[in-house]
Amino acid sequence: MKVLRNRVFRWGLLMVGLIAIITLTGMNVLSLYDLRDRMVESEEERRIDQLDEINDSIRNQILAPLRGLYKLELEPIESSIQQTGHLPNNIQDVLQRSSESPFFTNIYFTPEGTDPCTDNATIYKYHEDLNEVNSTSEYPDLLCDGVGIARTKTRIQLNDFNYRWNNNFEFDTHRSLNLGLINLAESRLIGVLTLTLDQDYIVQEVLPPLLENYFGDSEETGIVVWVLDWPDNNVIATSDPDVEYDRDLRDYRMGFSGSGFFDNWSMNLAFLQSPVTTAYNETLLKNLFVLGVAVLFLLGALIFMFVTAQRERHLAQRQASFLANVTHELKTPLAVMQAAGENISDGRVTEPKRLKQYGEHIYNESIRLRGMIEKLLDVARVDSGQNMIKAAPYEIKELLAKYLSENREYIEKKGFEVIFKSPDDNTRSLVDSDNFETIVNNLTENALKYSSDEKYIEYQVSTDKNNVYFSISDRGQGIAKKDQKNIFKKFYRVEKSDTQSQKIKGHGLGLSIVKNLVELNNGTIEVKSSLGKGTTFIVRFPKLEADENQN
Ligand code: ADP
Repeated sequence: MKVLRNRVFRWGLLMVGLIAIITLTGMNVLSLYDLRDRMVESEEERRIDQLDEINDSIRNQILAPLRGLYKLELEPIESSIQQTGHLPNNIQDVLQRSSESPFFTNIYFTPEGTDPCTDNATIYKYHEDLNEVNSTSEYPDLLCDGVGIARTKTRIQLNDFNYRWNNNFEFDTHRSLNLGLINLAESRLIGVLTLTLDQDYIVQEVLPPLLENYFGDSEETGIVVWVLDWPDNNVIATSDPDVEYDRDLRDYRMGFSGSGFFDNWSMNLAFLQSPVTTAYNETLLKNLFVLGVAVLFLLGALIFMFVTAQRERHLAQRQASFLANVTHELKTPLAVMQAAGENISDGRVTEPKRLKQYGEHIYNESIRLRGMIEKLLDVARVDSGQNMIKAAPYEIKELLAKYLSENREYIEKKGFEVIFKSPDDNTRSLVDSDNFETIVNNLTENALKYSSDEKYIEYQVSTDKNNVYFSISDRGQGIAKKDQKNIFKKFYRVEKSDTQSQKIKGHGLGLSIVKNLVELNNGTIEVKSSLGKGTTFIVRFPKLEADENQN
């Protein structure tokens, strides 16, 4: 129960860690995109603000000559016109300045009570060369609209109690600028000053340099602005003549001015792929890449830590069960020896045949005990890295033949058929003969232990150009694929459910010692096995050429 709880807890922690990393990454990616969008947006807003700047600039240029007007006393206008037919001098100055402005073509004054929508009304026209106004009955039709607009709007302003200016200006689209002049004392209109606008000058001389100055070549800035005369849907100016106006391309549109001048004109702006956006996109990609690498590292570290912890835990578990086993198994032979020894020393056993049996018991158990202690010492040596090897050139086939000459009888006694195949050619390799014996002995012991039905063991030596191989095969129970990668680990034993296999004694140390010794001698080991059919362990050592020196 506790084990299960721990397991759930560990996996739970891993999951929480993974989810936390994924969530954090997600949030980071979103905020990186958000940051990019905001940067791009604020760049776009800055550009849109520049449209206002252009409007303000044109407006200020148009209104510049009229700036002094609001300071003037306008009341004398009516009496001056009645008495002299001219406007008073103070106004003439403003008119002169205005007439010099390239924005205006002509200047007219329509007194209150005169209707410029009818023919032959008496209107005053400013003559620049004379610097005076003279009455005329020739005036353009647009005066009718301009004066009408100015009168209506100025009257509305006058209804507002707080209106304190002596004039009120209104644009009649891009055709004229009209100023309603006000008698502030009596709060009424005196007349309307109309300045006709030079549309060609604005379209040809003013707009293009301004647009180009602010927005320039669209390939560099990624922006195009078109000024449209919208009733005709006609492009009258553009920041880049190479890019044709296209309604679908347009990202932003605004009337030429918020305060109602050039009503028929609109500013249209399109954001093409701007270098700024490209730069932000590149930064975004760079950031995403760095984030990705960091997250991969983090995930890698987390998984690495988890896997390592799992491995350590398995090792610890195997070590614990090993300790329990070993204690038990050290005690068993000792107990047998103790009992047999006691019986003999007490003099209870005197019969020679039984004495011999007891002696054999003691001998066999002490051999077992010694084997186990040696194995433990081997492990301890491997663990402490003190395994010194005394390698010398040996014929592997001879080493194996020697081993067999000493052990064949023992193996055959256990009912095994022993086969030994070796080639005629050179099987020399540089190995430690003690190590070699331990290796062969462990592999042989395993073949004996894990074979039951068919008792067969085959030793084979072979070579190729650079290597000497020897293999030990049995026809025993075999090892499942999933276990094959683990059997060389320290303390690893294949778990078996059937009772017969469980009886086979062992500590999971033999193969780990074998692998370690093989590698110390510059060799490799691999296993080929199939369940129920048998197992072959193949050990490879580098071959020594026949003429290579003994060291
Ligand atoms: P053990 O002391 O358990 O034999 P080893 O390290 O020698 O430890 O072997 C590890 C495991 O590999 C054994 O528990 C056994 O299941 C399996 N094994 C080793 N050799 C053989 C073999 N010749 N046939 C079948 N299984 C084997």
